[in-house]
Amino acid sequence: MTFEALGLHTSILKALDEAGYTKPTPVQEQSIPAAIEGRDLLVSSQTGSGKTAAFMLPSLHKFAATANAAAQGGKTPNQERQAARARGDRPRFQPAQPKMLVLTPTRELALQVTTATDKYGSYMRRVKAVSILGGMPYPKQMQLLSRNPEILVATPGRLIDHMESGKIDFSELEILVLDEADRMLDMGFIDDIERIIAKTPETRQTMLFSATLDGVVGTMARRITKDPLVVAITSASNKHENIQQRMHFVDDLSHKNKMLDHLLRDTAIDQAVVFTATKRDADMIADRLTIAGFSAAALHGDMNQGARNRTLNALRRGQVKVLVATDVAARGIDVPTITHVVNYDLPKFAEDYVHRIGRTGRAGRNGLAISLVNHAEQMNIKRIERFTKQLIPVDVIEGLEPKRSAPSHAKRKPDGWKPGTSRGKPATQRTFSKPSAAPKGERGEYKSSSPRSSGSARPSQRSFGDR
Ligand code: AMP
Repeated sequence: MTFEALGLHTSILKALDEAGYTKPTPVQEQSIPAAIEGRDLLVSSQTGSGKTAAFMLPSLHKFAATANAAAQGGKTPNQERQAARARGDRPRFQPAQPKMLVLTPTRELALQVTTATDKYGSYMRRVKAVSILGGMPYPKQMQLLSRNPEILVATPGRLIDHMESGKIDFSELEILVLDEADRMLDMGFIDDIERIIAKTPETRQTMLFSATLDGVVGTMARRITKDPLVVAITSASNKHENIQQRMHFVDDLSHKNKMLDHLLRDTAIDQAVVFTATKRDADMIADRLTIAGFSAAALHGDMNQGARNRTLNALRRGQVKVLVATDVAARGIDVPTITHVVNYDLPKFAEDYVHRIGRTGRAGRNGLAISLVNHAEQMNIKRIERFTKQLIPVDVIEGLEPKRSAPSHAKRKPDGWKPGTSRGKPATQRTFSKPSAAPKGERGEYKSSSPRSSGSARPSQRSFGDR
């Protein structure tokens, strides 16, 4: 399947060619033709599956077609505004009337969607996309809105402010996208989303993307869409099969910190994201790592937008090697050179684990996700394993062994796991940087290299196989 075969406008094909996209990803292949036809979509897929292009390409295609029609005939609303100004008509305040709205849970994701839109639409003259985000100075937002952009990408909270003060009018809205809808609901945006949707025309096209379509998200999804095409993607990258996972048991904070330092000295690391439970810990660990000689930086929700953007840019440019982050701040980060994710603290929710490890293994590369686990946290690990239906192998570093022995693999079976059945077959061994056969340690653990001779361990891995 090619992008041409999906029927996309030539200006978009040119931009995709420039971006180096050779063929559509499965979510794009299934979503784009239906979206071009104007159908509503309910898509369960993860970040990393190419979902942004799945909703943005068909939308840009639609705008390219209307821009052509406008070029042959009447004026676009923006041209009318300019013409009125040229005639010397008194400028009256006019609310922005976007044609497309993309709602995202976080500012970072919103900025990523806007950047991707600029890339995909780089050969289209009449389409502007802007992000409206909390934390952005108000005059700047007003200036962006006064350009009457066709596409608005926003987090729900700030958008509500502008909508209710009459700065944005959704009566001309043609396309509504809810990106990472499950996450927006988790973050308590449901009322905001409902209020925004209530102001949009019934005739709109709605596309909803979510890691899951079960529960509350599913109920909302079905209520706000009409005869949607349901697309469920279970590709290898969705299941994070290109990401090797392992865990280390730690005794106490000092053991944990030694382990972190050792892991970050692995020469196979290009860039790493270390997740902490609190903003304070993110700052403290980033400081400690900087003193220890790492180019580390913190990223969390207490930082202002400027500081967050500077850190993310430094990460993208490779100036920051170790990003120490909290869940919300790191969500949606898409930097292909992130080779390692370290869960310094385990996430509260199993679903966050999946989002965290998805920061590595981007764009089809391999990644390694390592969790540091206190003995008291075995239930949390079980919950994660049940959610991912994958067993996380325990690894031990010589010289940094935990004082207490960890339970063996045989004792750590998620519910329903049976060795020797097709569901319990061992996953194929994947190679990540420097593969080495790790000798099996006691009680089903796997010994890896000593702290002094850094290298990546190769624990065996069992998974449920296909879900
Ligand atoms: P997303 O799931 O939208 O966050 O996209 C994940 C990454 O895949 C981004 O870096 C995109 O630029 C990239 N990407 C999306 N679609 C394609 C494609 N068809 N070919 C190659 N890369 C893609």
